[in-house]
Amino acid sequence: MAARLFRGSRRWWGYRCALPSRPAARCSHSGGEERLESPSAKKLTDIGIRRIFSSEHDIFRESVRKFFQEEVIPYHAEWEKAGEVSKELWEKAGKQGLLGVNIAELHGGIGGDFYSAAVVWEEQAYSNCTGPGFSLHSDIVMPYIVNYGSEEQIKHFIPQMTSGKYIGAIAMTEPGAGSDLQGVRTNAKKDGSDWILNGSKVFITNGWLSDVVLVVAVTNREAQSPAHGISLFLVESGMKGFIKGQKLQKMGLKAQDTAELFFEDVRLPASSLLGEENKGFYYLMQELPQERLLIAELAVSASEFMFEETRNYVKERKVFGKTVAHMQTVQHKLAELKTHICVTRAFVDSCLQLHEKKRLDSATASMAKYWLRGTWPAQSVEHATFHLRVGI
Ligand SMILES: Cc1cc2nc3c(=O)[nH]c(=O)nc-3n(C[C@H](O)[C@H](O)[C@H](O)COP(=O)(O)OP(=O)(O)OC[C@H]3O[C@@H](n4cnc5c(N)ncnc54)[C@H](O)[C@@H]3O)c2cc1C
Repeated sequence: MAARLFRGSRRWWGYRCALPSRPAARCSHSGGEERLESPSAKKLTDIGIRRIFSSEHDIFRESVRKFFQEEVIPYHAEWEKAGEVSKELWEKAGKQGLLGVNIAELHGGIGGDFYSAAVVWEEQAYSNCTGPGFSLHSDIVMPYIVNYGSEEQIKHFIPQMTSGKYIGAIAMTEPGAGSDLQGVRTNAKKDGSDWILNGSKVFITNGWLSDVVLVVAVTNREAQSPAHGISLFLVESGMKGFIKGQKLQKMGLKAQDTAELFFEDVRLPASSLLGEENKGFYYLMQELPQERLLIAELAVSASEFMFEETRNYVKERKVFGKTVAHMQTVQHKLAELKTHICVTRAFVDSCLQLHEKKRLDSATASMAKYWLRGTWPAQSVEHATFHLRVGI
């Protein structure tokens, strides 16, 4: 392991020598380290807690936290007004080794383990800055290219995406097709060895800044079911007929450049097809567990951040001669919130562990997403912390 990390240190800056590689991660649970779990830690966002991580992850986390504090938080309000983060930020993140963390070095990624990728997700949530679409780029789009792409596609896209010079997006949703992906109408028709792409997509994260978009399109209308006639294409910004519509005004995630995309007779070379023709739906289903886990992980991390913010506030704010934290009802509410967050964290950490071992199944990942998005605690924490903060 030391030799591997030493080799890594010759290639990457500073902390990268401490970034756990995939094999190193297998040692991280058995390092004999005594690590506190979230309920016993001073803060839910502390560095050095949770047994799924190792001291190497802690060093990495410190550098990621510093990056968000210095390079993201000070500019985020401006980016919210602009509806996009700066391209420069992406290149800075690339230089720091925060993109493609869990993509193997041999493919042009950083070669960190899955927990290291999760550290980046968590630290972004702890910074309370939703703007940079790093996780979608690194942990949704890049895995498709690595898992199903040709050597040529991997060589062309992955190093550029790791460096932040290329920003990735995925375009599934259409004005008439959301949850029901089989309702997609965007289509690609063969013309010699090329494909001609037509259609439109909506709500595409990183859509405005994107350099490469993974587009879901129908390639066989005669298939026995729509799922058997869908393919994925890598469409690059600047291709004739690929038009970026407008950045969408949203209730939240305001610095995220969610956009509409239009494809008008875009001529794609055969090399734009990702994987095999008509296998797109199968690839989407394979990659969904990681996407679901990512959403659950972001939500529980955001809850941890909100809880700590609330705790700070009630300890400082005085009413009727005492701090808000002195009120017994507030203490009850905080205890209830912390219990829910910690129970949820235990489940999400176990999902992270399963996923690192490639054993997370679709149903378990869905449970994590369902629990965090549909029920307690994300929404309730948001409501409860809001109520505590505004005093209602
Ligand atoms: C901030 C943001 C970022 C996004 N980023 C991306 C992206 O990068 N790429 C991308 O492709 N898409 C993206 N999306 C789109 C997202 O994937 C879709 O919004 C989602 O799939 C739901 O689709 P829809 O909005 O068309 O709603 P629909 O699927 O049309 O649903 C409409 C309503 O019907 C309900 N409904 C749906 N199915 C059922 C059912 N079986 N039973 C009962 N009720 C049902 C839904 O709950 C909803 O209330 C993003 C969306 C948002 C808000």
